[in-house]
Amino acid sequence: MKLEGKSALITGASRGIGREIALLFAEEGADVAVNYRSRDDAAREVAEMIEGMGRKALLCRADVSDSEDVRSMARSIVDGLGGVDILVNNAGVVQDGLLSRMSTDSWNRVVEVNLTGAFNCIKAVLPVMMRRRWGRIINMTSVVGQVGNPGQANYSAAKAGLIGLTRTVAREYSSRNILVNAISPGFIDTDMTGGSDRLDRIEAMIPLGRMGTRREVAQAALFLVSDATYTTGTVLNVSGGLVM
Ligand code: NAP
Repeated sequence: MKLEGKSALITGASRGIGREIALLFAEEGADVAVNYRSRDDAAREVAEMIEGMGRKALLCRADVSDSEDVRSMARSIVDGLGGVDILVNNAGVVQDGLLSRMSTDSWNRVVEVNLTGAFNCIKAVLPVMMRRRWGRIINMTSVVGQVGNPGQANYSAAKAGLIGLTRTVAREYSSRNILVNAISPGFIDTDMTGGSDRLDRIEAMIPLGRMGTRREVAQAALFLVSDATYTTGTVLNVSGGLVM
């Protein structure tokens, strides 16, 4: 098992990619703090599955865009799991629309959750990682943060910002053995992409010819927090070749 003795905070772990990462990390021996914002039942189910594997699970309802919420979540994880070795900033939202019709509220909300949320969580767990001189941080960006996407000015700007954040934090804390990387998924089968009426056209653009699975993103995350000991500040595309 690759993560025995480690504790991980996964934001947005009630559903989708975050849920899969939480379950895979638990399979590999980690205790997991399951963060979410609203879906109590879904989050509880993830926590029960983790406990069923014999690991500790901590339910952490907190809005990552709220710095006070995040600070108190970090304190409860230190009390409940003894620390945070691994942070995956996965929580994300979309509120799509062409820029000319995008409200300031919609811009702000998407940036606050996707980008400021990661800043808040990193800030809250860094002191613990620095004391331990060991830490792994993953920021979940997106291919649209690299190439843009019509209708997603807010989201692609936030995801591009996450890449800059990743590289800066990687440089600032490398001497403390805190490795910081980003994963850039393409089109993954989750609630966020569900119901798209453009799936056929999207799949035709992907060299591997299909959407990715949550498990495929989780495997990339596992690699970055376990075997990838000489990798920091990188952006790992998990996009079936959509971006290369
Ligand atoms: P999803 O299925 O919509 O799940 C989103 C998760 O984020 C849920 O657990 C949700 O909690 C949580 N969340 C939302 N706002 C939050 C907040 N303010 N505070 C705490 N948690 C919050 O999304 P997904 O498709 O798995 O995406 C996961 C990440 O991958 C996101 O950052 C997304 O931008 C990125 N990504 C996804 C794709 C894709 O194709 N799916 C592609 C590129 C990047 P509740 O259940 O409580 O609402």
